Amino acid sequence: MRRIVILGGGTGGTLAANRLRHTLPPDEVAITVVDRNDGHVYQPGLLFVPFGLARSGELTRPRGEQLHPGIDYLVDPVDRVDLASRRVSLESGHVLPYDVLVIASGAVLAPEETDGLTGVGWGEKTFTFYDPTGADALAAALDRFVGGRFVVNVIDLPIKCPVAPLEFCFLADWFFRQSSMRDQVEITYVTPLDSAFTMPVASRRLGGMLTERDIALVTEFNTGEVDGAGGRLVSYDGREVPFDLAVVVPVHNGAAYVTRSEGLGDALGFVPTDPHTLQSSVSPDVFVIGDAAALPVSKAGSVTHFEGEVLAENITRFLAGEPLDASYDGHANCFIETGFSKAMLIDFNYDVEPLPGHFPGRIGVPLMKETHLNHLGKLLFEWFYWHTLLPGREIPGVHSVMPIAGKTLSARTEEVLAS
Ligand SMILES: Cc1cc2nc3c(=O)[nH]c(=O)nc-3n(C[C@H](O)[C@H](O)[C@H](O)COP(=O)(O)OP(=O)(O)OC[C@H]3O[C@@H](n4cnc5c(N)ncnc54)[C@H](O)[C@@H]3O)c2cc1C
Repeated sequence: MRRIVILGGGTGGTLAANRLRHTLPPDEVAITVVDRNDGHVYQPGLLFVPFGLARSGELTRPRGEQLHPGIDYLVDPVDRVDLASRRVSLESGHVLPYDVLVIASGAVLAPEETDGLTGVGWGEKTFTFYDPTGADALAAALDRFVGGRFVVNVIDLPIKCPVAPLEFCFLADWFFRQSSMRDQVEITYVTPLDSAFTMPVASRRLGGMLTERDIALVTEFNTGEVDGAGGRLVSYDGREVPFDLAVVVPVHNGAAYVTRSEGLGDALGFVPTDPHTLQSSVSPDVFVIGDAAALPVSKAGSVTHFEGEVLAENITRFLAGEPLDASYDGHANCFIETGFSKAMLIDFNYDVEPLPGHFPGRIGVPLMKETHLNHLGKLLFEWFYWHTLLPGREIPGVHSVMPIAGKTLSARTEEVLAS
């Protein structure tokens, strides 16, 4: 009997376990999933909670129910991994030996790493919508908000779903307009980047959308301190942004056990990983999926989903002693909610930046265009998440390899592809 142990029962751990259970015989390979708690949250839904468009309780389901029969499931935080003896120690003292280990423990929020953030004002004037508790508290604060300086700040990168803070700005603009108080609210987006987003075409488009909505943009702002009492963000170079209400995306790290486990992670607790095979570079029997990987790709559910296809195939090949498939191309896509029941789809990979056109081919959903259809796609995605993506089924027309057909290539992309 070979043993696959999967650390983390979120998006990546669940879909990887289900895909592997589908292909590997239960009498030859045992699969165990471990998580520190039993509440599987549909995280993209947290964006809507502060605006009263979703309830955090309805976004959460028991993890065990998402796993296929024949998968063992333990609720017990991971304490550490011993790569040399191929064992995982859990906080209860339980030890799990493995033949293949999958790191799927995602990224954890570390608000305490920013001076002042969790001090005076946390949960009163400063909030995050990146976890259910924070999203609920922010919903109550938005109900009470009478106007003033409303600031959305990304403290540092990497973060989960890098477009989510922008979506939050667009929805805040919509929310204050439909509450007839937009003229009493100054919205400012504060980012450590030198523009609204990371890649040039999308950055121009998203930056333009901030301007159209009268949302101010402050760039290259590396937040060193959040002064909740005084209502100020202070950057390391001494600049200040005043606020009456701040929505902050805290620093993200890998799970703490990764840092505690010798040789497993980098300085931030993410695991060095081959970008195409998803085998870790720390040990051949360790594979990585989702936000836990140190890869030059967005930390996103779509990425995790596309990685799942390649990861499951490669674990099967690894167990059979066959060469690995190096086909993961960094494919990512995301519906960006833009307010007023519209959304915009972006689709990209390691080499191709988000571009206009259509997805998944010449005929399909418009890319980088705000439409009601894309908004419907964003809403429908929750159903696909629970019923297709987590069970490890294929979504028709959506695959791990990014489609080029349908995209209007930029000169920069043509150059990258030619090289
Ligand atoms: C507000 C918000 C909006 C988002 N919107 C989108 C979107 O629109 N589109 C998109 O594609 N993505 C979006 N995402 C990102 C997406 O949810 C994540 O990228 C995705 O869930 C990553 O999957 P994962 O398996 O790597 O991590 P997770 O799903 O977070 O799972 C990690 C699991 O590891 C467990 N774990 C951690 N430490 C331990 C430990 N010590 N012991 C045991 N278990 C542990 C955790 O409890 C968790 O269950 C959003 C995220 C947020 C927060």
